[in-house]
Amino acid sequence: EAQRSSRQIGWYADDLRRKLARQRALEDGLWFARGGSGMSLVYQPKIDIRAGEVFGVEALLRWRHPEFGSVSPAEFIPLAERNQTIVPIGEWLMREALRQKHLWRQQGRSIHLSINVSPLQLQPDNCAPSVLEILTEECRRLGLDRDKLELEITEGLLSNEAVMAQVKAIASEGFGIAIDDFGRDHSALSLLVNCPATTLKIDKSFVDNVVENERQLAVVQFIVDLAGKLGMRTVVEGVEHLVQLVALADAGCDYGQGYFYYRPLTAQQVLDLRHKH
Ligand code: C2E
Ligand code: CA
Ligand code: CA
Ligand code: CA
Repeated sequence: EAQRSSRQIGWYADDLRRKLARQRALEDGLWFARGGSGMSLVYQPKIDIRAGEVFGVEALLRWRHPEFGSVSPAEFIPLAERNQTIVPIGEWLMREALRQKHLWRQQGRSIHLSINVSPLQLQPDNCAPSVLEILTEECRRLGLDRDKLELEITEGLLSNEAVMAQVKAIASEGFGIAIDDFGRDHSALSLLVNCPATTLKIDKSFVDNVVENERQLAVVQFIVDLAGKLGMRTVVEGVEHLVQLVALADAGCDYGQGYFYYRPLTAQQVLDLRHKH
């Protein structure tokens, strides 16, 4: 018995060592990729549920590591936050997404664009330009409309006062703010009182069993009604099945996003999108 458990501990230790070695290698890789090399963006459409039309897209980051191949953002974003490379990477991706939006417009498509922003990017930092400075600079340079631009921010960090001050400054300059993954963690409704958000993104976890679970649907209904009273639009993410979409449409959700409609697309595929659904 004792021998078996000591062997098990050996396996766990090996497993942990391998995990740590991969994390270290990825963190080093992020340092080299911080100017955008090996990084790219894909774009997942958001659909206006009632009109059945593509309303806009969300930019999602992709990374191809020279040794490990494609690494999921769910794995590398937390590492980039830990070693602070998220700040230069975030700057690169904002400029890249805005460049693409400009290109689409030159190609005849005016597309609403959402960009994910990490908490660290909204913390004061004297060495890097602020998110607001980057947005303002690029919009002026490229002649982009601010009302077709939105930042997605997770609710967890909005309790931080310095971050909230940045969010308010960005919103007062006319850029849209979406609260991402709403309802995933412990949502404080008091957040909605003070946050100048224009959009509420209802987390995928609410969508998953919205058909089987009436209580789940009731909570979604409540969120949608509340958002309406606050003058906010609602987006539901992670819609995979028609039955989910029907329930969410009945609840009054404005926009839908998920594999039911589209997986994340390349910039060229976005350009080729049909308008109607
Ligand atoms: P998120 O912002 O909640 O993005 C949605 C994620 O769910 C994306 O995964 C998307 O591909 C996936 N998804 C969309 N529709 C469906 C669906 O119908 N079913 C399922 N199962 N999944 C769906 P992705 O691209 O792997 O991104 C994961 C997370 O990584 C994002 O979650 C976001 O938190 C973070 N992330 C991605 N790109 C960026 C970025 O540019 N900047 C920052 N700071 N974080 C990013
Ligand atoms: Ca998002
Ligand atoms: Ca989300
Ligand atoms: Ca989510």
